[in-house]
Amino acid sequence: MQADAYRFDGSRPCDLSRLPTDAGSEKGKKEEYAAKTAANLRRMEALQDALYADGREGLIILLQALDAAGKDGTIKHVMGGLNPQGVTVYNFKQPTKTELQHDYLWRVGQCLPPRGGIAIFNRSYYEDVLVVQLHQLHKTYRMADRVLTDSDEAFFEKRYRQIRHFEEYLYENSFRVLKIFLHLSKEEQKKRFLDRIDTPEKNWKFTPDDLRERARFDEYNRLYSRVISATATEHAPWFALPADQKWYTRYLASEVVVEALQKCAPSYPALDEKTRAEMQRARIRLMAEDESR
Ligand code: ATP
Ligand code: MG
Repeated sequence: MQADAYRFDGSRPCDLSRLPTDAGSEKGKKEEYAAKTAANLRRMEALQDALYADGREGLIILLQALDAAGKDGTIKHVMGGLNPQGVTVYNFKQPTKTELQHDYLWRVGQCLPPRGGIAIFNRSYYEDVLVVQLHQLHKTYRMADRVLTDSDEAFFEKRYRQIRHFEEYLYENSFRVLKIFLHLSKEEQKKRFLDRIDTPEKNWKFTPDDLRERARFDEYNRLYSRVISATATEHAPWFALPADQKWYTRYLASEVVVEALQKCAPSYPALDEKTRAEMQRARIRLMAEDESR
């Protein structure tokens, strides 16, 4: 699979500064990729149908990225191929006062899908090791001294471990976690911000805070490299997908979602003898309706 080049499963560290943000040699092939994406969306639909009927595994797909990398667009165009019955999208915003009184995974528990279902996380508990670490927000939380006296490094190393264990726990309970990072260049982010400022219909997507975060663009990418390296595992891999061309990102995202669904290996439930016999009797009765008309 083409997206394998961007897969991190714990077997190698991730260094985003060495990974492409653009489509490279594929740049001129927009039409071709749009057709391939459409084919993947059809496969996704069929696989999801079987996943839902099967009801044995659940899938969590989470998206992380810097602003304007295309999280919303990816959800709309790629996950739009899924049947809304069986999928829920959750947006992880700044935690509320109540959420902050709890451990950071508390709010996640309420967003987990049932087996047979899919949950899409637009941002996720990874914010708790990203924005929280970069802005040192944990220092403002009310927590015991024994927790807050940890060095920053120790505090977040523990969180990486907790996240790995949480995802392993999900895997061992018949859920899979697929993690997608949209890797955008600083130049492309500038273009998209300008477009949001200049296009009235897109104004609402821009906030002055976005520039504050942009000022720390490289710092964020270094931290993402660290976080991806520390939390990528075989069963809960990360994909750091180039995000400068939306059509290319969408194709790669459709590939990794199809693969994740295939790994769930859904199959339609097989009927037992008794139910099959009942179905046959129902069939005979339905056919008899025509004859008695
Ligand atoms: P867009 O990319 O289109 O701007 P968005 O995902 O940034 O969309 P916003 O409503 O602009 O959506 O931002 C949500 C904000 O909530 C982000 O800045 C994110 O960092 C922040 N956030 C999410 N989880 C946490 C957390 N646990 N602690 C602190 N901030 C968080
Ligand atoms: Mg934002």
